[in-house]
Amino acid sequence: MSDAEHHEYRCMNCGAILKATPETIVAICEYCGAPNVISGILSEEDLYLVPSVGKGKVLDEFWRRVNTDIDLKSIASKIRPVSIDGSYIPFWLSRVKLDGEIIYRKREYDGKHVRVKRVKKSFSRAIWVDIVARRQVKHLGLRELVKRYLDENPESIKLSEMPIDRWREIKLPILNLEFDRAEAEASIRDHSIDLVRREWEGKVSDIIFFSAEVKSMTKPNLIFLPLWTISYRYGGGLYFAQHDGWSGRPLVFAEPIRAFRRIIYTLGMVFSTILGGLSGYVFLHEATSLGIFILLASLSLGYFFGKRFVSDVRVERE
Ligand SMILES: [Zn+2]
Repeated sequence: MSDAEHHEYRCMNCGAILKATPETIVAICEYCGAPNVISGILSEEDLYLVPSVGKGKVLDEFWRRVNTDIDLKSIASKIRPVSIDGSYIPFWLSRVKLDGEIIYRKREYDGKHVRVKRVKKSFSRAIWVDIVARRQVKHLGLRELVKRYLDENPESIKLSEMPIDRWREIKLPILNLEFDRAEAEASIRDHSIDLVRREWEGKVSDIIFFSAEVKSMTKPNLIFLPLWTISYRYGGGLYFAQHDGWSGRPLVFAEPIRAFRRIIYTLGMVFSTILGGLSGYVFLHEATSLGIFILLASLSLGYFFGKRFVSDVRVERE
């Protein structure tokens, strides 16, 4: 450690020397368990977090999932957790209201005929927009974590109001933030427009014109959400599961794909290839909407099974 990086911090509660690196924003005292805010970016008033359950509860939920899952329960005795780690991930969250206009083409099937209509609509939309307050976060499952947080709305508390006893139990590291509130506001603004556009892309197929603008947004709030990662061994492979920290339930669960599933995926690929060939024939000879339908259906089936076939890990999002 260079001199510039070295700075001695002492615990506000008991005076013990704290372990802190330039990355640390909150150091948890090894002696008394008190959290100490170190970073200059934050004031304690800004630090809200959702209390986490402990390791034991997360492991219980892991085994509950393993023992109730159709595929996993038969191999439960061969599953070995090798590590379990949790940390607090910082998110900026803002409620954004947008107005906009969209023009798209809509196809209507009327027996054998396809009619194309031009539809113009104005819309207003209010959405939650989040950004992870870090430039590089390797974790999977962050989207799922925020989504569940917004759905379930678990209680969040100020770090300064967290009883020290709870910290002694949990002691999760708190990841530093790399975006301040002003940066967060700018990127939430941009991101909200992309999100609304993507919502429309999911609903309509042929967008000719799209515009949206932010009418209002709340000041981004910083919230630290607990995320746990369990890695486990099965056979020769290493897999992982991620759990939210407030309920301990799995969010994302990577499962080994077992032999019988591979057979199902192979059959699926073969079936959709045959269907594709058949519809190609029908399509060439008679360009009906049925032909188009079968062609599209078989292409998407082939894609679905093909994508699963190449991977030996199946990721389930709860
Ligand atoms: Zn202390």
